[in-house]
Formats: sequence, structure tokens, C-alpha cells
Amino acid sequence: MKVYLDNSATTALDKEVLEQMIPYFTDTFGNPSSLHNYGRKALKAVDESREIIAKCIGAKANEIYFTSGGSESDNWALKGVVKASKQKKKHIITSCIEHPAIMDTLAYLEEKENVSVTYLPVDKGGRVNVKDIEDSITDDTILVSVMFANNEMGAIQPIAEIGKICKEEGILFHTDAVQAMDSQNIDVNELNIDLLSMSAHKFHGPKGIGVLYIRSGVKIDRLIHGGHQERRMRAGTTDTPLIVGMAKALEIAVRDRAENNARISSLRDDFVKRVLDEIPFVYLNGGMEHRLPNNANLSFAYIEGESILINLDLAGVAVSSGSACSSGSLEPSHVILALGVKEELAHSSIRFSLGKDTTQEEMDYTFDVLKASVERLRQMSPLFNMEKGTGSYV
Ligand SMILES: *Cc1c(COP(=O)(O)O)cnc(C)c1O
Repeated sequence: MKVYLDNSATTALDKEVLEQMIPYFTDTFGNPSSLHNYGRKALKAVDESREIIAKCIGAKANEIYFTSGGSESDNWALKGVVKASKQKKKHIITSCIEHPAIMDTLAYLEEKENVSVTYLPVDKGGRVNVKDIEDSITDDTILVSVMFANNEMGAIQPIAEIGKICKEEGILFHTDAVQAMDSQNIDVNELNIDLLSMSAHKFHGPKGIGVLYIRSGVKIDRLIHGGHQERRMRAGTTDTPLIVGMAKALEIAVRDRAENNARISSLRDDFVKRVLDEIPFVYLNGGMEHRLPNNANLSFAYIEGESILINLDLAGVAVSSGSACSSGSLEPSHVILALGVKEELAHSSIRFSLGKDTTQEEMDYTFDVLKASVERLRQMSPLFNMEKGTGSYV
């Protein structure tokens, strides 16, 4: 059996989306910037896609800017706001659990642009405290950037409350909503969001295409210089098929959202309960209350997450240890550590991220394979044998 439980890393392209895209690779291949018929046909598809995406988040079409994906949108939002700001001292508030596309960009801005950054802690459930944001605001604060939902342990942040504070204080609010587009209802006006990043491949669209929503009136510099595309704000030949695919994928995600959320969260809840009940020394990372419906992040004491991952992979089950972006390094995930989880347990964390195609049968199979793997690996673990699994080490 083959089971894909790594939907937070990327999702399979929806067949309906692929079908919608194909004509724009072949017949309607024109450059949307061209004035002739080929170009006009492509431009029409791009315009329609922009309308669809705008509608899905309550925005206007001219506030949607196409980028190459989540990383570029995050880079643009942060660097663009800093560059456009006339303030002498620039301060940004963020959380300590952001995606590397935010973390690494902020580190760069601290080093090269003399920006000061406040990294807010999170509670055991993985959420920032709104009061901490209020307390961190200074006269120099130009931007608050807090992700909508975390990619590793699924914590959904208090976005409405943060947006309200930023609006009251006249500070720009950016959110990396890459993990949230599939399952969360998002209205940029209700939530007072000024800038929002999304990426199509996280909701069954194609890779290499994303959006930065920029509220009209927000002062932001360009990241990519060149031609006049995207109202002169983001150069590069417009990629019609990817844009058409992204719009279709988001349309489907919004259409099926409630139904998918109910089904996926029920599968996830049953799985988590079974694992906690039937496998000893397992710990859930993050809380259950404000959590993406498809995420389960669990630590299996006495074992390295990578060992479990490899065992599951041999049995056809694809999961992730920590974040896909930080795998390859031996450092435990900064997100799991931020929850207050001890280093040893952070090393034994596994992320299961379900998707709209996940079935009960797949979850049952995953549970069986997981239970057997954990038992086998613990038998080989010196620590487990030394303590005879008393749990004293955690
Ligand atoms: C995947 C992801 C990104 C990066 O998006 P890409 O399109 O792969 O560049 C950024 N932020 C979060 C929260 C993500 O999960």
C-alpha cells in the first residue's frame, strides 16, 4: 500500500486543475503582454484567474500580484516594506515559529538593512499571545508578520485579533497564509490583513506559482525589476498555465472546504487518539483546539524521527520529520523547540499531514506500520532498554 501523508510539504496536482491548464501550454501559448490575438486570449485567462483568486479572499483583482511561490511572496512582503519605509529606525514584530522564508529573510534584513526584529514566543499550543504583540509595538514598528497557520504543528494563530491591533496602531500586517488556504476561510478585510502570501502547490495547484496580496495604498518596493508585468510591480513573462491552474485549484479548495475539513479532521482525530492510546511514550506537539484539520505532529520518545520516517517509507508511507526544509540538518526543529519540548523529544517528532484523498484504510494501515516500527526501533534503542521504557528520560 502507498500512503502519502506529507501534504504540508506539497500536494498532488488535482486532475481537474491539470485539464484546465493544458490548453494554455499548447493552443493559448501567447504572451499576455502581446497586443495580438494570441496575447489577448492569454491575457483574458490571466484576468479571469486574478478575479477568481481575489474573490476567494475578499480582495480586489488589482490587489493580487503573481509571484513564483510562497518564498518569493514572503521575501517581497518583508524586503519591499522595509525598502519603501521612510522611517529612520525600522522595527518588525514576528513569531519564533515562522517558516524559513520569513526567518531567513528577517535575519538578512537585520544584518544588511539595520532592521530590528522582535521574535515573539508561543505557548504550549503553538500560538502567539496577542498581548505580547501589543506590548512589543514601538514608535519604530513598521510591520507585524505572523503566519496564519504553522507548517510543522498546525497551530492557527489569532489573526483577527492581530489584524485589529495593527489597524488601530496604523502598522502594516503581513501573514504567511501558505498553509491556511486549503482549510481556512479568509477575508482580508474582515481580518485587517494588508499583505498575504500564498502558494498554489500547497492546495493541489502547480508548483512555481504564488500570490502576494497587497492592499491598495500599501507602500512597498519591487523585488524583481524588469518589464511592466503585474502593473509594473513584478517583472517576468506572465505564466498563463500556472496562473490558470492556481485559480482553479483555489476555487476547488474553497468549494470543497467545509466537506474536506470535516472528513480530514475526523480521520486525523481518530488517528491521534489511537496512537496516544495504544503506543506508549508518545506526545502530541501543539494543542488540538486551534489546529489545522490535517495536521498531527507526534514525538515518539527514545527514537529518532528520521528512523521512523525511513521505516514508514519502506512500508510505503510518506511522512516528514520536523520540517522538510530543515531535514538534512541535525538540528531539531526550531518550531517544536519553541513549544517548550525538550531537545530529545523534538528529535523524535514526526509530522503526519493528511490530504483530501486520504482514506480510513490508509490511516489504519499507517497506524499498524507505525506501531510495529516504533516497537522494533525501541527494542534496538539503548536508552529505552536502559530505562526499560519507564519514561523517566522525558
Ligand atoms: C511551503 C511554505 C512556504 C514556501 O512556499 P513555496 O511556494 O514552496 O516557496 C512558505 N511558508 C509556509 C508556511 C510554507 O508552508
